[in-house]
This record gives sequence, C-alpha cells and structure tokens, in this order.
Amino acid sequence: MKIIVTAKQVPDTNEVKIDPVKHTLIRDGVPSILNPDDANALEAALCLKDKYPGSTVTVVSMGPPQASIMLKECIAMGADDAVLLSSRAFGGADTCATSTTIAAGIRKVGDYDIIFAGRQAIDGDTAQVGPQLAMRLGLPVVSYVQNIVEIKEHSIVVERQLEDGHEVVEVTTPCVLTCVKEFNTPRYMTVGRILFACDEAKINVWNEKDVELDPANCGLNASPTKVMASFTPEPKGKGEMLSGSVNEMAHTLVARLKEKHVI
Ligand SMILES: Cc1cc2nc3c(=O)[nH]c(=O)nc-3n(C[C@H](O)[C@H](O)[C@H](O)COP(=O)(O)OP(=O)(O)OC[C@H]3O[C@@H](n4cnc5c(N)ncnc54)[C@H](O)[C@@H]3O)c2cc1C
Repeated sequence: MKIIVTAKQVPDTNEVKIDPVKHTLIRDGVPSILNPDDANALEAALCLKDKYPGSTVTVVSMGPPQASIMLKECIAMGADDAVLLSSRAFGGADTCATSTTIAAGIRKVGDYDIIFAGRQAIDGDTAQVGPQLAMRLGLPVVSYVQNIVEIKEHSIVVERQLEDGHEVVEVTTPCVLTCVKEFNTPRYMTVGRILFACDEAKINVWNEKDVELDPANCGLNASPTKVMASFTPEPKGKGEMLSGSVNEMAHTLVARLKEKHVI
C-alpha cells in the first residue's frame, strides 16, 4: 500500500499574533511543531504500514526551509520519505493556493492508495486543505475520520466522527481521509530512527519548477482570499467568585443576572 500524509509545521502556541498590516500570522521567534492532527494522520498511516508489510509512507509538506526539521521528526516516527514544497513562489498562499501546490507535489510523488491529512491546522484552522486537495486530485474524501474499520481491495471502510456519535462510510480508493485527534495516540520517535533521520535521511525539496507549476498559479498570485481585518480578541474582564452557602451564592447570582438584565 502506498500512503501519503500531508503535514504542516505550525507555531507551538495558542497566542498567534497577527501582522496588523499584512494580516498574516507572525511566525518569527515562535517555536514550531508538527500540527497535532497531522501527527494523528501520520500515526494512522504508520499503523497501516505495520499491518501491511511492504507499504510505504511519504510525508508531504509545503512551508519554509525550516519545515524540514518537522519532516525529519516524521521520519523519526517511522515515515519512509519526505517532500518539502518550498519556494518564494509559494509564499502568501491561502488554502486555495496551498492545496494547488500540495496536489502538484503529490502528483509528482506518483502512485498512492490513501492520502491522510489532519482535520485542521491549529494556526489557520480552516479545515479546508484536505477536501480541496481531494477536489484537485479528483478523489473522494471523508473528513473527521476517527477509525479504520476495514480495508478492502478497492475501498476502505471508516468511522466518521459526528457531534453525537459516528457514521460508518465506505469509500473507494484512492481517497483522501482527514483525521481527528480521537483516531489514535501518535507514537514516540525511537532513538534509532532519530539517528537515522538526522544522519542519513534526505528531505526532497521541490520548488514550482519541480512540480510543474506556473508561479502565476501558486502562492499569493493564486490566492483569492483577501483578509479584510484580523485581530486578537481583548481579554475578558476578571470573573467574580461568589462565596457563602449554596443558597447565598444562588441569591447573589440571580441578583447579578437581574442587574445585567439577563433574566
Ligand atoms: C492571504 C493569506 C496569506 C497567507 N500567507 C501565508 C504565508 O505566507 N505563509 C504561511 O505559512 N501561511 C500563510 N497563510 C495561511 C495559509 O494559507 C494556511 O495556513 C494554509 O493554507 C493552510 O490552511 P489551514 O492552516 O487553515 O489548514 P487546514 O485546512 O486547517 O489544514 C488541514 C490539513 O491540511 C494539511 N495542510 C494544511 N496546510 C498544509 C501545508 N502547508 N503543508 C502540508 N499540509 C498542509 C494538513 O494535513 C492539515 O492538518 C496565508 C493565508 C491567507 C488567507
């Protein structure tokens, strides 16, 4: 089985700051990590590799040169190969241009049975790239996948997470599956694999020419999203802790809510 995982390097923080002029995320000086849902996607791929010997797992990412560190971590977890799509031409990409570039990279990788993506990235948070990727590659997609039930010759049966349960979906392969964190617990890197990733593994770095993309069709040039305004929400005021007996606290709470015309 040939498996591809898309992985994004994201800032390791919940307090992402926004450039007030460019309206893009300020990433400088913020430590970066493998996007958490992508760690679940990679784990899902590695479990299939363990189950079906001879399978290969290739991780594909679009990002700046330092994303190669994150890709080495993916190799240290057990991935066979990694591709970094990196070029100035890819900079400023919205989800539309990001999926165009990743799709071009996957076409160059070639043959595949399953593409695992995370459900969403913790910085952009749109959850659009996985489904867009499927559209660009002409593949079916199942989002919010939390379990693989069965692998058949030309299809795969998965559980898809819903708000109050799950549904079981059969999808023909090749396909794109976007994974949620409940899918699994990502494995740790082993010492042997860390040494291999640092000393021997080579990250393939491809630019727009390598993946046969016209610069007009990638990065900012091909990003229809225009961010009109973005801001960090003001911190909420300090909460008030009530004290006294349960009855006293209930009375105070009702009085406060009446004061504010909530009730
Ligand atoms: C106008 C504009 C300009 C922007 N400029 C930049 C910029 O210069 N640099 C920058 O880094 N971001 C930039 N962004 C943000 C960037 O577009 C998004 O982070 C990116 O498109 C992914 O969207 P998302 O984070 O919402 O991912 P989601 O759609 O939430 O991600 C879902 C899944 O798709 C996969 N995925 C997403 N992105 C990648 C990736 N890059 N590589 C591999 N897999 C991926 C992962 O598996 C992920 O779990 C810009 C956004 C806008 C709107």
